[in-house]
Amino acid sequence: MQLLKDRIIKDGKIRFGNVLKVDSFLNHQMDIELFSEIGKEFKNRFIEDEVTKILTIEASGIGIACIAAQYFKVPVVFAKKNQTKNIAGDVYTGKVESFTHGRTYDIIVAKEFLQQEDKVLIIDDFLANGSALLGLTKLVRDAGATLVGAGIVIEKGFQEGGELVRSHGVRVESLAIIDSMNEEDGLVFRN
Ligand code: 5GP
Repeated sequence: MQLLKDRIIKDGKIRFGNVLKVDSFLNHQMDIELFSEIGKEFKNRFIEDEVTKILTIEASGIGIACIAAQYFKVPVVFAKKNQTKNIAGDVYTGKVESFTHGRTYDIIVAKEFLQQEDKVLIIDDFLANGSALLGLTKLVRDAGATLVGAGIVIEKGFQEGGELVRSHGVRVESLAIIDSMNEEDGLVFRN
């Protein structure tokens, strides 16, 4: 998606540890006009799939998922990062290793919000090592729902997540795939 790639080049900042900062438009301050274009693009890519629910993970996926949901006209459910040790009964659970914070946490979704009849589209801001996406995928599969695929805004193609998640049979649609990034050469996108 050219508009997105242009914005990443203009405002993205490459940080130590393979981190791309896009705080000025994606996951701190949010450019809602850009989010609308992202939402339309996801809708175009999954137009045939009769999506009934969008699933994302708090916090940075929520804004993108909500704007996209306006085009799909379906509810958004976000997986909560669980703080407590004792997980209550009526939830699906998974584990996610945080790429940016380096620790593992539980994610939960109440069973009542993911049904067997649901056709679920997962949406998230980044795909790096794939832990968040695999954790969300597990919740959908535990619910017996159908996973139609995942819509990712930025995939860092030089990390293993994309290949790993696709090897689990998940259709992943990324709007911008970065093949390399470093201070000297800048950002290289996959065509
Ligand atoms: P993964 O689970 O695929 O390793 O990482 C995905 C999650 O880590 C995303 O939900 C995103 O919040 C965060 N993340 C991964 N890489 C980056 C990055 O380069 N920049 C930012 N801002 N977040 C990232």
